[in-house]
Amino acid sequence: VGSEDLDLAPPLCTFAPLGTESKWGDTNPYAAKKKLQYWFQLPNGDWELGKMLSTSGSESVISLPEGKVLKVDSGSLLPANPDILDGVDDLMQLSYLNEPSVLYNLQFRYNRDVIYTKAGPVLVAINPFKKVPLYGNNYIEAYKSKSNESPHVYAITDTAIREMIRDEVNQSIIISGESGAGKTETAKIAMQYLAALGGGSGIEYEILKTNPILEAFGNAKTSRNDNSSRFGKLIEIHFSETGKISGAKIQTFLLEKSRVVQCADGERSYHIFYQLCAGASPALREKLNLQSLNDYKYLRQSTCHSISGVDDAEQFRVVTEALDIVHVSKEDQESVFAMLAAVLWLGNISFMVIDNENHVEPVTDEGLNTVAKLIGCTMAELKQALSTRKMRVGNDTIVQKLTQPQAVDTRDALAKSIYSCLFDWLVEQINKSLAVGKRRTGRSISILDIYGFESFDRNSFEQFCINYANERLQQHFNRHLFKLEQEEYIQDGIDWAKVDFEDNQDCLNLFEKKPLGLLSLLDEESTFPNGTDLTFANKLKQHLNSNSYFRGERGKAFTVCHYAGEVTYDTTGFLEKNRDLLHLDSIQLLSSCTCHLPQIFASNLLAQSEKPVVGALHKSGGADSQKLSVTTKFKGQLFQLMHRLESTTPHFIRCIKPNNRQSPGMYEQGLVLQQLRCCGVLEVVRISRSGFPTRMSHQKFARRYGFLLLDNVASQDPLSDSVAILHQFNILPEMYQVGYTKLFFRTGQIGVLEDTRNRT
Ligand code: ATP
Ligand code: MG
Repeated sequence: VGSEDLDLAPPLCTFAPLGTESKWGDTNPYAAKKKLQYWFQLPNGDWELGKMLSTSGSESVISLPEGKVLKVDSGSLLPANPDILDGVDDLMQLSYLNEPSVLYNLQFRYNRDVIYTKAGPVLVAINPFKKVPLYGNNYIEAYKSKSNESPHVYAITDTAIREMIRDEVNQSIIISGESGAGKTETAKIAMQYLAALGGGSGIEYEILKTNPILEAFGNAKTSRNDNSSRFGKLIEIHFSETGKISGAKIQTFLLEKSRVVQCADGERSYHIFYQLCAGASPALREKLNLQSLNDYKYLRQSTCHSISGVDDAEQFRVVTEALDIVHVSKEDQESVFAMLAAVLWLGNISFMVIDNENHVEPVTDEGLNTVAKLIGCTMAELKQALSTRKMRVGNDTIVQKLTQPQAVDTRDALAKSIYSCLFDWLVEQINKSLAVGKRRTGRSISILDIYGFESFDRNSFEQFCINYANERLQQHFNRHLFKLEQEEYIQDGIDWAKVDFEDNQDCLNLFEKKPLGLLSLLDEESTFPNGTDLTFANKLKQHLNSNSYFRGERGKAFTVCHYAGEVTYDTTGFLEKNRDLLHLDSIQLLSSCTCHLPQIFASNLLAQSEKPVVGALHKSGGADSQKLSVTTKFKGQLFQLMHRLESTTPHFIRCIKPNNRQSPGMYEQGLVLQQLRCCGVLEVVRISRSGFPTRMSHQKFARRYGFLLLDNVASQDPLSDSVAILHQFNILPEMYQVGYTKLFFRTGQIGVLEDTRNRT
């Protein structure tokens, strides 16, 4: 069919046209045009709306808004939706679900501060980077009473509560998106709604107060987000049988420890360090021998010490108040601050050469002295831990002296593990305070705020772990959505095998297969004393080159074909980060010290170092290896997470960052499109396109189009009328399915019917 034959873009009829134009209070420049509109891609990648003037099949002439007329390849044009569909609430309502149409619809809404849109079952949230008047008690009331049903975090959270009660099934709200896209804010908005609806016992205040605490200790300013979460988080909120919140439990994933000892210029370490330095009382300063930010090497590495619009001293007050509320005693709080000060002072410890073999010892200065005092050991013990390494060889213990770089690594490893133990300990304390009573008979809603897919110019171990996690989550997402589709088809007795669905199991296999998967090979290489990043990369190439999801690159790099696109990883630092060693000496030091919080180290550090050992980890001989590798531990956590999520009804929120400048009012099409692809929104759209997204009951279909029947043989039977209509209009059999109660159509199929109906 030549496009010229149609003079109206085919509208869909499964939605009620809501008087869209008046709703938005403005007019579209194209509103008056009755010609077919098409999307035309400009050289910069953006899409522009053009009007088809003529077409010869392979070539078409279109006019663009500024009056420009172009001759273009017809294959490069994508159909645009009729104006009446501008700014629809749900992308599924679009007749044409192509990328520019989706982009345009989201932008249309975003320009009007309508940041939420549904993509079928998924909520898309576009970061406004400014206050938008969409929250607070009035809105909560409106969603609660269902007087407002437009897409919103409140709406999806409300659905979760209702389904939890109605189906007696635990729910989950899974939030994903790039750094800075708004996941953490979205999670807080959902928590706010839960607290408002399920509050009453007072525990909801405690739950809300965990946010400032975890943000202080686990968030930092990065180049992409002033308040970037450097860990993943699952909070499970429990409800009693009467629908009231009865408690909560938090689980965290993969804290970025390295930030404690090094951060890029323009970024900061964890907020809490700056808050402590700015907000500690004179008495506390004296006790901890606390100096100003500039006196600490770890903080001085970056020239960025403050965040515009943030008062660190005031935040310190907020955090201590929140710690009070979650029942961390003043005494424990002081111990926490002492450990933070110890970390800062550790960074100041320097080393001097003591023999002609370049072995070093820490300089005896204020730094060494203060650290020893704060963690509760002697200076001699600390000195020893920082300048020697005990190795077990057979039954003997050998003491090895350290060189400058080894000593610095040991010092930094100690600082990182003090901090991460402190973080874990805090989460534990919070969990104790929020603990669900013994009568845990009710249900729960879990909120997952986890790093989204990452692809940078240079991708390292962190991206490798994060993208692996996203590959797992994507599978959960796909399978769930596919299942939903399937259920509806099966219910109506149609042949669902015709819905094709792409599983990413093959890519997951690339990661998880034993013994020749990315994770196993990494663990194996990490245990070899002579293993290096290069030998690791070579091993990958040797064993995985035939895998179509893998590609060896030059030097130390390799590429993985993720569901969201190809990512090339540079293996530099992979082995060391995966081993994440803390030497026996440091472990002994921490467990024997009389510092304020020995239980921090006792419960976390030691537990970790004593766990059963992975595969061949013994082989390296040292006590160093008595520990799970980072990826093994992470994989375990992920499996446990997926297991938990699988027993819940999931609700998905995809956060989108409209620009990289954290500024309001800027919508960059290319950037948004790339995220829509990565977080699977277009995939949902694709799944639905490959299925039968347009559904109409036999009755409605017969009523709507019955009068078009040529021989006017309309019977009393809606089904036979429907079939007669389908035949008359030559709708191809593969384009529709007849269910028990409904007709199912592939996208765009009933356009011609609507068209004829409108002309008649
Ligand atoms: P990361 O992965 O780095 O932790 P994130 O996805 O959690 O990023 P957020 O910290 O939630 O991102 O959001 C970044 C910033 O965007 C917030 O600090 C806030 O300024 C702004 N923002 C996000 N969502 C909203 C919203 N709904 N309303 C107003 N501002 C928002
Ligand atoms: Mg965050």
